[in-house]
Amino acid sequence: MVAAVMAQQTQISRVLLKFGQFTTTFPTVESLARARTGTVLRAWEGLGYNLRGLRLHRAAKRIVGLGGFPRRAAELVEIEGIGPFTAAIITSFAFGEPAAAIDVNVRRVLLRLLGGADDSRLTDRALQSAADHLISRRAPGRWNQAMMDLGARVCKAREPLCGVCPIADWCRARPRFESKQGKPRVAETRRAYRAQPPFKGSRRFYRGRIVQALRDLPARGTVSAASLRQKIDDGNLGRSLFAELIVALENDGLLHVDGRGKLRLP
Ligand code: SF4
Repeated sequence: MVAAVMAQQTQISRVLLKFGQFTTTFPTVESLARARTGTVLRAWEGLGYNLRGLRLHRAAKRIVGLGGFPRRAAELVEIEGIGPFTAAIITSFAFGEPAAAIDVNVRRVLLRLLGGADDSRLTDRALQSAADHLISRRAPGRWNQAMMDLGARVCKAREPLCGVCPIADWCRARPRFESKQGKPRVAETRRAYRAQPPFKGSRRFYRGRIVQALRDLPARGTVSAASLRQKIDDGNLGRSLFAELIVALENDGLLHVDGRGKLRLP
């Protein structure tokens, strides 16, 4: 679960640097559930998207409250922060449940494999059901891993390598890519290459800076809002945006305001 949540929006190379350290600090779901939120957020440093660390902590508490780790993806998705993809990764690897994990790459493979020239009828629900039918009963975790690798390395968005693809014999889209017009449809490439808005100066950028500044305080240390703003302001952080972000972070549970108005990690 730790690896799956860490890998949600973070490069695997960064996950590998943090995974061992995190699981040494919290070797069991119980130890993670018992920890203070601030301790978990400090251990999450370097992984970005602090809400994921917070949700992982809440998930651990919920699992301990349930009295055991849910073994089916349909039960795991009931826990905040665990979506269908993460749930399927966890239960297929850990418990051998034949639950297909569909990320953006796997979705593209399935659309091409099953849809060919016309994939308009393949809704997300239909894709999930088809993939749950196709998945190996003997090694569902390895099947999920193989599909993700296939999507990332062979069935690429722009130039699928149909000539070396191990499922080419069954693929309905293969003739399209091997014909003269064999280019991904515009809609497909748009889906795969949607431009990201700039990160610097965004709300997420300043949220991350605020949480980092609180991490840098000594354990249980506090800071006034004015000093915190001074520390993180790069000249573009207005007073009202800063106040808005503090309220939002407090509501999310990533920051605590004490009775004297001082700020700290929860
Ligand atoms: S044959 Fe080509 S389009 Fe079909 S799954 Fe393989 S790489 Fe993708």
